[in-house]
Amino acid sequence: MTSMPVAGIREGAPAQPADLVLRNAKVFTGDPKRPAATAFAVREGSVTVVGGDREVAPLVGPRTRVVDALGHRVVPGLNDSHNHVVRGGLHFVLELRWDGVRTLRQGLAMVREQAARTPPGQWLRVAGGWSVESVAEHRMPTPAELNAAAPDTPVVITHLYQAAILNRAALHAAGITRDSPDPAGGQIVRGHDGEPTGLLIAAPGALLLYSTLAKAPVLDPEGQKGSTRQFLLELNRFGLTSLIDAAGGFQDFPSGYRTVTDLHAAGELTVRIAYHLFPQTLGQEVDDLRRWIGMVRPDDGDEWLRLNGAGENLTWAAADFENFAQPRPELGPYEAEFENAVRLLMESGWGFRLHATYDETVRRDLAVFEKLAAEGLFPGGNRWLFDHVELVSEESLDRIAALGGAIGVQHRLAYQGTTFRDRYGSQAATTAPPLGAMRSRGLHVAAGTDATRVSTYNPWVALYWLVSGCNVAGVPLRSGHHRMDRAEALASYTVGGARLTGEQDVKGILGPGYYADFAVLTDDFFEIPEERIPEIEALLTVVGGRVVHAAGFFEGLAPAVPPVRPDWSPLAHFGGYQAGHGCDRSGLRQAEGVRDAAAESAEQLRWRQRTGRATGGHRPLDTFDPCFS
Ligand SMILES: [Zn+2]
Repeated sequence: MTSMPVAGIREGAPAQPADLVLRNAKVFTGDPKRPAATAFAVREGSVTVVGGDREVAPLVGPRTRVVDALGHRVVPGLNDSHNHVVRGGLHFVLELRWDGVRTLRQGLAMVREQAARTPPGQWLRVAGGWSVESVAEHRMPTPAELNAAAPDTPVVITHLYQAAILNRAALHAAGITRDSPDPAGGQIVRGHDGEPTGLLIAAPGALLLYSTLAKAPVLDPEGQKGSTRQFLLELNRFGLTSLIDAAGGFQDFPSGYRTVTDLHAAGELTVRIAYHLFPQTLGQEVDDLRRWIGMVRPDDGDEWLRLNGAGENLTWAAADFENFAQPRPELGPYEAEFENAVRLLMESGWGFRLHATYDETVRRDLAVFEKLAAEGLFPGGNRWLFDHVELVSEESLDRIAALGGAIGVQHRLAYQGTTFRDRYGSQAATTAPPLGAMRSRGLHVAAGTDATRVSTYNPWVALYWLVSGCNVAGVPLRSGHHRMDRAEALASYTVGGARLTGEQDVKGILGPGYYADFAVLTDDFFEIPEERIPEIEALLTVVGGRVVHAAGFFEGLAPAVPPVRPDWSPLAHFGGYQAGHGCDRSGLRQAEGVRDAAAESAEQLRWRQRTGRATGGHRPLDTFDPCFS
């Protein structure tokens, strides 16, 4: 079957015909042996030949699907090396995503519209993918605005790991009253009358925010499968073909993994998933790990779903939540239990990933690792890495390199970069995280998003942050030395994740013998102006030779997308990431909305300056909107 024009290709009957041939493409292969090509052939899920029409033409048989990329850029499929899809997929269709929304005004209009169609008993939740730095107004919504937009539907909007804003109906539904005590590490803000205002503050722990969200209705198992499928398809929309799930709270094993396991059994995964196991109960972490070590082994599974190790937490007490609006949390003594956990993993041949934000935490963790290394237990040939490490020091990087560790970086500071700068200073912001210092030590760096609760899952926003050093509003933060060039950034998003799962010989580049995982892009990542990188999407996404997403002139090449259920789902009406392709989607009204909002913000800044309240924080016109210039 041929799906596209095949000019220049001679049809014949080769002995080993390709299932799929992609031609007339600008292929970035990532393969140092052959970095550029215009065509490649795929058979049984893998790339067989890379080159030009002349090389692939002999492989076209009567059943070969030949796709003309019409000169578009093609890249190896992206791999988000730190995502929380296993948990996030369970309720993706119930969330209103503000990813890509450029004004609070637009976000609140979406809340108003969605509240009107949300059935009684259901909640409206916005959790992640936005921040005060991604909306023109540079502020959170107020409870009063949520009450006005949604008088009856419970609405919860979380802001990073800092705060949650609830309307009156949500306070009621969550059972938060004047008599509710503040939980440890959190604050229920109250008015003079003692009544909760609707603002919850993580000070500094985010448990209050997420235990509140956890009171919202959940989907039944079929609904969770459908929801996870929709999330994976949304990731395919951006050319993502692999991810590594970093696990988390409320994600026990094996129960918390049933949805992806079932989807895998039904052949319905459209993104390859490697997953981690994260002890759930404070004080019982080593018991959890021991139980799992008796059940499964790293690399168990197949090329679609496989276990990769433990983490991103190994023990709760060692976790330093990043809340850059608050001072660094002081962790208590955690080394004894932490050492037991790492020792058990190392003795059992398990690798791990470890969440750490601050250098103080990294140094304490490294001291434990070095003690075990002195006993000959570390790194023991196991794959391990530190995640996040925005504030890691050069000395710690030396120690990580000496122990053979890798690093996972995510664009958390794209959403809280100016907050970080206001607390730690411009100088610290130029090196957060110190990508140049990692590069000069030859450390392996894999990139990702940490979606969905802080940053967006859209990989192109993360790639923009890696390359530009700017937050989502375009405010420059990281210095040139600590940015990546585009090829390096793409490698960290392809080969980067493949190396973390030990699959670098089959995944991450387009070469003979590698999985046929690739994306045809709307715009050329290597040519497009830097500030437009976040607009890139995939026209065609292929995983293992299978078309999982097709848009634009490829529409029809992918299987029909199952409808979003329930039919009132915010995803069904708004879609996921709100793309900002020019002004044509919501037109002049949106442009006016942005301008009004920015004007309000500018007026607000002038007032703050006049009254001595300005702290030199945000530039009010740092809107991230091509319609407003
Ligand atoms: Zn983390």
